[in-house]
Amino acid sequence: MLSYEKALEELLANVPTPTPTRVPLQEALGRVLAVPIVADLDLPPFKKSFVDGFAVRSQDATRASVKLEVVGIIAAGDSSQPQVKPGQAVQIMTGAAVPPGADAVQMVEKTRRVTGAAVELLEALSPGENVSAQGSEVKAGQTVLDQGRLIGAAEVGVLATFGRAEVEIYAAPRVTVIPTGDELVEVDQTPEFGQIRNSNAYTLWAQCRRLGLDATVFHPVPDTLPRVRESAREGLKSDLTIFTGGVSMGEYDYVPQVLAEEGLSIFFHKAAIKPGKPVLAGRKNGHMIFGLPGNPVSAFVTFELFVRPAVRRWMGFKSPSLARVSAELMVDARQKPGRKFFKQARTVWAGDRFKVRPIETQGSADLAGFSSANSLLVLEADTTHLEAGQQVEVLLLDNGVKSDE
Ligand code: AMP
Ligand code: MG
Repeated sequence: MLSYEKALEELLANVPTPTPTRVPLQEALGRVLAVPIVADLDLPPFKKSFVDGFAVRSQDATRASVKLEVVGIIAAGDSSQPQVKPGQAVQIMTGAAVPPGADAVQMVEKTRRVTGAAVELLEALSPGENVSAQGSEVKAGQTVLDQGRLIGAAEVGVLATFGRAEVEIYAAPRVTVIPTGDELVEVDQTPEFGQIRNSNAYTLWAQCRRLGLDATVFHPVPDTLPRVRESAREGLKSDLTIFTGGVSMGEYDYVPQVLAEEGLSIFFHKAAIKPGKPVLAGRKNGHMIFGLPGNPVSAFVTFELFVRPAVRRWMGFKSPSLARVSAELMVDARQKPGRKFFKQARTVWAGDRFKVRPIETQGSADLAGFSSANSLLVLEADTTHLEAGQQVEVLLLDNGVKSDE
């Protein structure tokens, strides 16, 4: 059985190459840039005033206080450019172009209007004060965002600044989620004896959504060879198929058999992890397939441990795995050795450090118990116990770490 590290390495080495696609600017948020962004203009594009005040020749204002004649006013966006001659000033607004002759702006707070069309500068000015030279932030032709950059809110603004109404990002795989199991009924049904509601399809859909993917979700597929086969063939029409249920050693667990028959090359079936040991991953041409266990917590965790990194790598992310921090363990923790344990836990920011407390639940079926977790406490396969106060490794889920609760 592969260790988590080996299984993940094998998986990431086999993720298809990201493919660029062009989207409207607003759809680029949270995605990865497929090309470098080169400035199409200088920034600022003209000599610009940084403040509201008076544009002057700095040699007229080397000492306080001086009185200058006001010969005009320039608002932001004005194209008028009155010449500033010795002894003169032009009133100017933040963001307006500094007129010829002027080389500094005195802020309005450091001036006083005097009778007649005049202003008194109350403090001395040096050349260039409160003026941004053309191109002082960015020069046309300069690369402002590198290829591979994650597009956050600030990057969206940078793209807008340089006129990118459309942006080349890496495409997201089209995903199909296929729940399997004779016992599954839909969410709007009342289960009869022996049945349960299909929750995994919704959980996995939500996890995909969190990654920016809009997954197609199938109705539960019965545990028969022909139906599982049919669903696999249907799933293979998308880029990524996620099965849940039917991947273990049960008599009616047909997913591994079907995938082998469909010619999938399987990277691993079973990994030395807890929860989620039966997890399966493979590839056929440019298509990836995962078989996640049916137990709701196992399905959730294996998505985070395997599907998420694969999808994010496919979408061009440099660090595709969950964020990792070191935290102080609040209570003793124990486990049976043998498999790397990703234990549901609650991590808080305690002002100067992270603290983590494992959550005790009824096991890998207990999603209600799991749902208050915001992190996974990592216990190595050969660790049998950890003591309160020890620093431990924690993987952060994306429902957020709060301050001490
Ligand atoms: P399996 O992996 O098919 O052996 O299923 C393991 C456990 O997970 C069983 O108790 C199933 O009833 C349950 N299970 C399987 N699929 C789902 C699902 N889509 N939603 C909720 N529970 C499920
Ligand atoms: Mg099953």
